[in-house]
Amino acid sequence: MAMCIKAMGLMRMRFAIVDGEKVEAIPKAKGICPHCESEMIAKCGRVKVWHWAHKGNPPCDPWWESETEWHREWKNQFPIEWQEVSHIDPGTGEQHIADVKNPFGLVIEFQHSILNPEERISREEFYKEMVWVVDGKKGDLDESYFNMGLSGPIQKSPLAYQVEWWGRSRLLHNWAESKAKVYIDFGKDVLWRLVLFDQTKKIGVVGPLPRSAFIDDCHKGKEISVSELPEEETEKGDIGNTLYI
Ligand SMILES: [Zn+2]
Repeated sequence: MAMCIKAMGLMRMRFAIVDGEKVEAIPKAKGICPHCESEMIAKCGRVKVWHWAHKGNPPCDPWWESETEWHREWKNQFPIEWQEVSHIDPGTGEQHIADVKNPFGLVIEFQHSILNPEERISREEFYKEMVWVVDGKKGDLDESYFNMGLSGPIQKSPLAYQVEWWGRSRLLHNWAESKAKVYIDFGKDVLWRLVLFDQTKKIGVVGPLPRSAFIDDCHKGKEISVSELPEEETEKGDIGNTLYI
């Protein structure tokens, strides 16, 4: 129960069911939660993104993270039907709401807040086929530390760089043991996949991937691609630089 109380009032959701349709919040609207069927009320204030909240009742998914603009911009890259999708474990009946689930069964979770290891493991075990997109802008200096620590490329295919972590936060530590693929988003055109990270030495390997390629692959249901550095481009030495943007 502690879990529910902690999360209470924080479960901002983008969609509710109104007259049988999955719709966004508009002022004074009332709807039904698509997942637990409780009553929901529209919250349309000036500060937070317009959203739906459960009326009075504890939220139906203790894993749910309050939506930020960052979440919403990401979800907007995918069709509405793929967003906030109930996922039920056929064995246990346990139910959670995936940020995005494509028709090929891949769950994409957008993580802004810090997740403790137990919860990360539970989610990975529950969803099985999933990837994480982590908000790298949460810590003010993390992006600078990340760029400072980058060196390479150390491998051309797939393209990989070494990263030494100087930052005070545990941005890379927190995801070092993830079984799912982890992509760090610093708000630029390139996402960085954390391939591996040695928490003691604070050295890891990361692979750049254009944001557009990531989104495209998730749309097509393909294995998410990796970048490669063509031989002639390496000699010119220009591609490596553009990837640091
Ligand atoms: Zn609900």
